[in-house]
Amino acid sequence: MINITLPDGSIRQYDKGITSMQIAQSISEGLARNVLAAEVNGEVWDASRPIEEDSSVKLLTWNDTKGKSTYWHSSAHLMAEALEALYPGTKFGIGPAIETGFYYDVDFGDREFSSEEFKKIEDKMIELAKTKSEYIRKPVSKADAIEYFTEKGDEYKLDLIKDLPDGSITFYTQGNFTDLCRGPHIPNTGHIKAVKLMSMGGAYWRGDESRKQLTRIYGVTFPKASELAEYVHLIEEAKKRDHRKLGKELELFAFSEKVGMGLPLWLPKGTALRERLVRFMQTAQVKAGYEQVITPHIGHKNLYITSGHYEKYGADSFQPIKTPQEGEEFLLKPMNCPHHCEIYKTKPRSYKDLPVRFAEFGTVYRYEQSGELHGLTRVRGFTQDDAHLFCRPDQVKDEFKKVIDLVLYTFGALGFDNYTAQVSLRDPENKSKYIGSDETWALAESAIIEAAKEKGLPTVIEYGEAAFYGPKLDFMVKDALGRKWQLGTIQVDYNLPERFELEYTGSDNQKHRPVMIHRAPFGSLERFVAVLIEHCAGNFPLWLSPEQFIILPISEKYEDYAKKLSDELKDSDICGLIDFRDEKIGRKIRDAEVKKIPYMLIVGEKEAAEGKVSVRKHGAGDMGSMSIEEFKQQIIKEITV
Ligand SMILES: [Zn+2]
Ligand SMILES: [Zn+2]
Repeated sequence: MINITLPDGSIRQYDKGITSMQIAQSISEGLARNVLAAEVNGEVWDASRPIEEDSSVKLLTWNDTKGKSTYWHSSAHLMAEALEALYPGTKFGIGPAIETGFYYDVDFGDREFSSEEFKKIEDKMIELAKTKSEYIRKPVSKADAIEYFTEKGDEYKLDLIKDLPDGSITFYTQGNFTDLCRGPHIPNTGHIKAVKLMSMGGAYWRGDESRKQLTRIYGVTFPKASELAEYVHLIEEAKKRDHRKLGKELELFAFSEKVGMGLPLWLPKGTALRERLVRFMQTAQVKAGYEQVITPHIGHKNLYITSGHYEKYGADSFQPIKTPQEGEEFLLKPMNCPHHCEIYKTKPRSYKDLPVRFAEFGTVYRYEQSGELHGLTRVRGFTQDDAHLFCRPDQVKDEFKKVIDLVLYTFGALGFDNYTAQVSLRDPENKSKYIGSDETWALAESAIIEAAKEKGLPTVIEYGEAAFYGPKLDFMVKDALGRKWQLGTIQVDYNLPERFELEYTGSDNQKHRPVMIHRAPFGSLERFVAVLIEHCAGNFPLWLSPEQFIILPISEKYEDYAKKLSDELKDSDICGLIDFRDEKIGRKIRDAEVKKIPYMLIVGEKEAAEGKVSVRKHGAGDMGSMSIEEFKQQIIKEITV
């Protein structure tokens, strides 16, 4: 008998050679029907593979990331089977799972292939899936493997086999298709119920431009048709919400090749929105005891030699800026932290002065390859809502709690109500990788865990994910489409205080090193605005909208009344505009809807005579007529966050 330890810690005894599928069956038939593979001692195995010794076993289903990727990789085999059936003589490269789905690189020879044939392949895959063919694993000798693919004439598989040691090679067969693969796979093709081929492109064999270009076909599969429909819907919705598209339509930001790739230009409306975010954060930070500082966009190379950034990132960064004489060298600021360390050092600090909190909307520049740039989410210059807190070790927990409050306040004001926090700690097996004493690490780690717990954050703890210089807490936000974004990070740092020799005088009159905490609730304003646009589909919360109202005069006669209203609202810090165009009112309303302006104020004869406005709300329609005072009160109530 062997002992099988399950994830809940329970131990069950089975005969040697038991499979994960049989273990699942011994627990429940329902579970067994859903098992796709199993993690045996940390390695993903076929559910049909016999287990010969005491092991820990985790059964994997569609709900596990590793179960899903096994499913999608198995789907790549199914697609290959369909391609071989439809286009005999097709040769195959590699077919891995990716984050959403799978691809296979194939060589169709001289055959022309277009995405119009996707439907035919999808149908074939479904037809083959229905046969519920098992994925059968078979170890083969290198000689036999070479013989098989020589006969088949697949030079790509032969190229792969060349690098594999004899004794390690396995084939997998489902239906009529045999592939070179080390596995694992799902039990049978019957789990695959819905298929969609997404796109195709070219891919050089082994990523080598001097070799043949194969056709890469991307696909995705699901155990239920409804899940595929949901997925397709989300993709369409994501396209509609793409911040690059909406940023243009709403005139928020632009890029110019002349200015330089990856350097966003904020247009007036985008700037208005961004300024509101800045003001919001500044107000909250002042309340939380931060002090605002400003530092230059460049820094002497020596600053970054001291901080260690030059050694670590120098080669892959924008190269130094040289002065005409003197031979000085400056770097574009890649981060604000070293500057803030120097601000800390401008005067002696005592334990009573701590914590000090320096905040700056600091613009930093980081080199990204042009191919990596993407809208506002990957840029070469961006502004962080940065702050550095310098505190005593015993203050870390309190400071974390305060930062958590600030982050949650921010999320609340912006409508992100679905989030989790990840606490990244040291790898306990490998403590020598990290700088700072065991004692300070233990203190900071427990402080972070307790702070998160006391604030009631839904938390996951990841060991080994800390930076070498300190543990951290990251917020993962789920947007309206269920996509996850990392926003907001709080990071302890033992490294920079050491490198910059930061000190404070303790109650014992001795010199001590402060703990430094980096934090940025938005992360970068650019990326944050991108996420926000996609989250709210451009319908910003009223307090953030660059234009909160638009006044639509029914004719030229009411323009003076419109101007008077607009001035009155502006006096109350409510901004908007007037549509002076000589257009029909219906047209004006439609255009305002497209621009997603939250309130439309229609003024005509009746309104002007009674001193009122007819209010329409974006997405909600007619709200009737009210006095300007009533409207003002409503807006003020709505924008008070
Ligand atoms: Zn495989
Ligand atoms: Zn920092």
